Amino acid sequence: MAKDNKKGIFEYSAAPESTGHISIKEQYDLFINNQWVKPQQGKYFDSINPSNENKLASVARANDKDVDKAVKAARKAFPTWAKLPAKERGKYLYRIARIIQEKSREFAVIESMDGGKPIRESRDVDIPLAAAHFFYLGGWADKLEYAFPGQNVEPLGVAGQIIPWNFPLLMAAWKLAPALACGNTVVLKPAETTSLTALKLAEVIQEAELPEGVVNIVTGEGDTGAALVNHPDVNKIAFTGSTDVGKLIQRSIAGTGKKATLELGGKAANIIFEDAAINQAVEGIINGIYFNQGHVCCAGSRLFVQESVVDEVILKLKQRMGNLVLGDPLDKNTDIGAINSKGQLQTIKKYLEIGKKDGLEMFQPKLTIPKKGFWCAPTLFTGAAQSHQIVQEEIFGPVLAVQTFRTIEEVIQKANNTPYGLSAGVWTDKGSKIFNLTSKMRAGVVWANTYNKFDPTSPFGGYKESGYGREGGVHGLEAYLKLS
Ligand code: ADP
Repeated sequence: MAKDNKKGIFEYSAAPESTGHISIKEQYDLFINNQWVKPQQGKYFDSINPSNENKLASVARANDKDVDKAVKAARKAFPTWAKLPAKERGKYLYRIARIIQEKSREFAVIESMDGGKPIRESRDVDIPLAAAHFFYLGGWADKLEYAFPGQNVEPLGVAGQIIPWNFPLLMAAWKLAPALACGNTVVLKPAETTSLTALKLAEVIQEAELPEGVVNIVTGEGDTGAALVNHPDVNKIAFTGSTDVGKLIQRSIAGTGKKATLELGGKAANIIFEDAAINQAVEGIINGIYFNQGHVCCAGSRLFVQESVVDEVILKLKQRMGNLVLGDPLDKNTDIGAINSKGQLQTIKKYLEIGKKDGLEMFQPKLTIPKKGFWCAPTLFTGAAQSHQIVQEEIFGPVLAVQTFRTIEEVIQKANNTPYGLSAGVWTDKGSKIFNLTSKMRAGVVWANTYNKFDPTSPFGGYKESGYGREGGVHGLEAYLKLS
């Protein structure tokens, strides 16, 4: 499948439906000042394909000296970038968006190889949305005074941005586009298991001829992220990841004056009323929890079904689960791809054991699991109650826990009874019920008769342990501005 073309670049004729070729370098250095820079200690780590455990590339491991170099580059670039006519900044964002669109097939294939997600999702969701974010935020660059009328708007300075592995390019876009539109410069740290599309984006940034130092990308593990968080010359931290690391970051920056946006975990309620269109609701449940193998912070992992329709819903759900196709992420018919890493598979398996030990009934459809790689069949637990650990804790995998309810008051109380508050879903035929329920849900995003729909115009973010600050929409600009 891969052939070395003697330039250290592997070329893939990866997906059967892919006509263009995919180039992944054998080794990636750090991206600082628009150049590839060797890591100070000369250390690299492997990025592997989780669907077959093959190595895709070596990726540089940045230490605190490398991070310092990147922050210095961003600091040096800041005054010029901030003073550039806002319209010009917008043009750079449009240029990035257009190049992402031109290379969308390549981006989609690399995303699916590096992260394990089905190609249909990277092709139809992740990559187009990443381009859409650059277009949308590019449009705001010269209209900030209209977004915040009567206020003086200034960029914050250097933003340190740390992203997770579940939507690698999309999360990079969520972070970079508003920061750049508002006139900040950036040091971005991708997640260690999925750095490759961020590094491909570095090539796009070179091609778009962004001024040097405006975007710098440092790869590495948690210690690289911590070095960025702790760097004294960073003005803003934007983090998406686990609640545990989010809490660590909050402690590290307390009293430093650094601004922060934290988008953390979730344990969303997906609520099905008896008057819902049941077949559509079943599709919504499937999409809510099994999309991206459940590696979604807003996944609908707690299902609440009104008692009168529970038998029908569970029966249809099990039938639908039996039709899901698990396997090669690069096959366009695949619904369930690979689990992102060995470590994440172990975490998910631990929760499956806990669910069984707690006496819940576990259902998995009979699917053929590939011999190599990291895989978990879509899983359903029935008979769950509020106190069960698999109901309380975020699993970040394709695991759904089902509870029942009788009244709207009961389900609101149960749905809100969680340390998290990122998202929720409601399925009903009655608009009044939607308004009643959504106004009482403690969740940043509530979907009605749909689930997992994202749009750059819509703010996203949580309450409670799901973090604070909003990304997307006008609200997302505020996180990168000093308003006075
Ligand atoms: P998960 O547990 O799901 O892998 P993490 O929150 O650990 O999620 O990872 C999200 C991002 O945060 C990754 O880019 C990771 O490298 C980074 N990270 C991990 N630990 C730290 C830390 N202590 N400080 C800053 N960033 C970190």
